[in-house]
Amino acid sequence: MQEVRNRAGVPPIRQPMNQDQASTSTAVQRAQSADPSFYLSAPALPDPGPTCWRDGDRLVTPHITVLPHICVRCGQPASKRVSVKLTWHSRWWYLLLLLSLWVYVIVALLIRKKATLELSLCEPHARSRRRGRRAGWATMIAGAAVLFVATPLALALGLLLIVAGAIAVIVTSRIITAHRMDDLYVWIDGVHGSIVRRTPSIR
Ligand SMILES: [Zn+2]
Repeated sequence: MQEVRNRAGVPPIRQPMNQDQASTSTAVQRAQSADPSFYLSAPALPDPGPTCWRDGDRLVTPHITVLPHICVRCGQPASKRVSVKLTWHSRWWYLLLLLSLWVYVIVALLIRKKATLELSLCEPHARSRRRGRRAGWATMIAGAAVLFVATPLALALGLLLIVAGAIAVIVTSRIITAHRMDDLYVWIDGVHGSIVRRTPSIR
């Protein structure tokens, strides 16, 4: 409702509420906050639309997303939810490896983009992931144990086992990979085609 203004265009000063008006207003506010039907009777918010899209054979999602409860590896009914963290940076940053490994590592940690996705796996794929992670951790522990044999050969073998185990844990844990990321979205590789095909196209 348009406010009545005086000739100078200045809105009138509101009179302060008297005690009865103030208590009635407070009572209404209390009733509104206590009665859930007040909110249920409010008009529904508009449908936000899809939060995942298809770009070719890749899924495109926001950086924090919950994917449908379908196994991302085979498209079958899922039994387990898994949280996966993805990171990505442009391939051009790998050129820093020509300069120094440590310079690359520090810069990559600073400029990488991150995404967290909650996805689902069926029982066989969840079991396979569990086994891969356990094997990776066992290899790392074995490598650390070999380091105690203080010979140059044992040192090299121990470090090799630790690196191999760490790679196995990382690869089996992430399930999917980031093809690229911008400030808002991540393009994901490794999602089963039946899920990607059911997702609306981004174009
Ligand atoms: Zn599966």
